[in-house]
Amino acid sequence: MGESSHRGLLKMAKTDLDVFVDTLTKSSYVVLAPIEEGEATKFGVVGEEKIKIPRLTTRPLKELFFPEDESLLSFDSSGTQVASIDMSGVLAGDGISPRVALGVRPCDARALVILDNVFASEDYRDPYYTLRREQTTIITFTCPLPGVACFCTSTGGGPYDETGSDVMFMEVADSYLVKAVSEKGMGLLQEVFPLSEEGPPEHLCILHEADDEDIRAAVEAKAAGELPVDAGVPVEAAMAILGQVDAFGDSAWEEVYKKCLGCGVCTYLCPTCHCFDIGDEVTGASGQRVRNWDSCMFPLFTLHASGHNPRPSRKERFRQRVMHKFNYFVENNDCIACVGCGRCVENCPVNLDIRQVLTTFARQELT
Ligand code: SF4
Ligand code: SF4
Repeated sequence: MGESSHRGLLKMAKTDLDVFVDTLTKSSYVVLAPIEEGEATKFGVVGEEKIKIPRLTTRPLKELFFPEDESLLSFDSSGTQVASIDMSGVLAGDGISPRVALGVRPCDARALVILDNVFASEDYRDPYYTLRREQTTIITFTCPLPGVACFCTSTGGGPYDETGSDVMFMEVADSYLVKAVSEKGMGLLQEVFPLSEEGPPEHLCILHEADDEDIRAAVEAKAAGELPVDAGVPVEAAMAILGQVDAFGDSAWEEVYKKCLGCGVCTYLCPTCHCFDIGDEVTGASGQRVRNWDSCMFPLFTLHASGHNPRPSRKERFRQRVMHKFNYFVENNDCIACVGCGRCVENCPVNLDIRQVLTTFARQELT
């Protein structure tokens, strides 16, 4: 069996997942996977514990690439002159090692491709984000059991969507079918799990070629676990209304925002939200320039130095979040800034459901 076997579908016993992770960890890769933090789950460096892959991590994958807060550069100044600016230490930090993010769900991987429009476009390449993207191989696990708040198929994705994946694991009975989706993913498998003629060391013999029976079982599993083609949220009909010139003044905005507390949870946990603020933290003559997540749901986000605020109430701020995801971002980047992961639905403290908001606007298109 030559290395070209990696071009086909591979198979691995579920019980070998820890060996797979252990082998990656012992190679040159830092392995990041879902870990528990109190009652929440997030992506973090794998420790001694067994890997447990939740249906969806509480915190989104985006923070591996666009952290909640990070130092962009350090500086040293004397008087009014900046004597030196240093980015090297920052860029040599956590982003420089080759990494594998494992246990990613397809919606989070798709969200990264959406974020690339912001941080890794032809017009602007954020050096911190792009370095982490280049250094990270994404291993997605298909969704055998989508949650009650999921609506990925209404936003162009799906439980088996390969967008943004480098390697995809698909659950079939007591095995995973393993597919190299990108060149990067194939490179990882060939480097760490070579299928050589001579026979690899015993601990590397966990990946095998899938046979016709495995592939048939995979097709059946996919048919059983797949959401309907449309999860039932009328996203396109809502977008047709939100794209009209008078959408900004639509009377529906007077109602749909009312429960909103402006807490910002929906934006922090959203895998595609990307608002940030930049400030300098100075001690004596030196300091750091720090980037933090921000939220369009906060009044300070648009407060001018004059005291004027173009989004003075929660109504305007809520409208901005919805319009940005389903209209402005689409106009600018040709894709919706929502992957239907349902995190905002599940975690909003007042159960303000974006699916219902979209349905409210869609009704105008459909009646
Ligand atoms: S999580 Fe809910 S209450 Fe909080 S800002 Fe978002 S929509 Fe408003
Ligand atoms: S808007 Fe809500 S459902 Fe859509 S990607 Fe963000 S958190 Fe997920």
